[in-house]
Amino acid sequence: MREASQSTHCSVARTLEIVSDPWTFLLLREAYFGVRRFDRFKSNLGIPGSTLASRLQRLVKDGLFKQVRYQESPTRHEYKLTEKGRDLYPSMLILMKWGDRWLAGPEGPPLSIVHKTCGQPSSALVTCSHCNREIDITDVTYRDGPGAGHGKGTARRRLRRSSNPDNFLRGRKDSVARTLKIIGNKWTFLILREAFFGVRRFDEVRRNLGISTNILSDRLQMLVGYGIFQRRQYNTRPKRFEYVLSERGRDLYSVMIAFLRWGDKWLAVAAGPPLILHHTPCGQDFVPVVACSVCGSAVDNFDMDYMAGPGAARAETADGSPPTAAAEAPTPPAA
Ligand SMILES: [Zn+2]
Ligand SMILES: [Zn+2]
Repeated sequence: MREASQSTHCSVARTLEIVSDPWTFLLLREAYFGVRRFDRFKSNLGIPGSTLASRLQRLVKDGLFKQVRYQESPTRHEYKLTEKGRDLYPSMLILMKWGDRWLAGPEGPPLSIVHKTCGQPSSALVTCSHCNREIDITDVTYRDGPGAGHGKGTARRRLRRSSNPDNFLRGRKDSVARTLKIIGNKWTFLILREAFFGVRRFDEVRRNLGISTNILSDRLQMLVGYGIFQRRQYNTRPKRFEYVLSERGRDLYSVMIAFLRWGDKWLAVAAGPPLILHHTPCGQDFVPVVACSVCGSAVDNFDMDYMAGPGAARAETADGSPPTAAAEAPTPPAA
């Protein structure tokens, strides 16, 4: 198991390189709500035009958006989600669910979901492709897949990150944004990934990730502050601590495997997935599926309707931004 986690410069990390940029993430989210045009992205998010242009270009280059001409003179383009871009949506739902559960506050989630296929108020679950049961962190074992160890050469040019994590909360307020504000940072997520593989000790995490001591202390402190890790002393002389996932932290596991599914499908090297997941209860290798909690069928951007949830009013007034998310349903597929 340890070998597997070390060799996975895994699909999750690659996926996070794409979505952990706040603007990129927010643009994707707008697209899931049906926004396609430059001016609309610009006004909904209050994003500077040049930043918007470069992020859209990047999303096209990464194959998440495609540029489609909708007017001849003057030439105008809109940005539509590709299949690859659309397929990231279920992972976003899992993020939202985690945020709803742990960060929404006493008012409840800002946005409720109805699964159109079954017509029921729903949430998303990560299930086993083989037995359809919900995946629990304790039920999964790992081994290297054919693509293990192939990822190191895929480092991407870093986007200039917006320094302010509050950018995640711009425009529409919802639990996805709140969640990414905490975990939408590559190192933070990689530290969590180590924890999901059972690594608890500072030095071991540092060694596995090649992360600097001060960044690691900083991130661990933050994660303890958010209640994702509990710090436990395991040695008195010298004093040594380990970092154990809380219930809230363990619950992030579904977020990780939802991203893993997308990354393996769309970003994995030709050799195949770097990591194979094995579901102990059914005894089969599996692919994580993001499914409706009521009917169990796999969910898609266009199967979901949104309603204002109990926490919507608070979210709107938090910075005076307009109540957009709750009022707007995603547009139907144009293809
Ligand atoms: Zn299973
Ligand atoms: Zn359903």
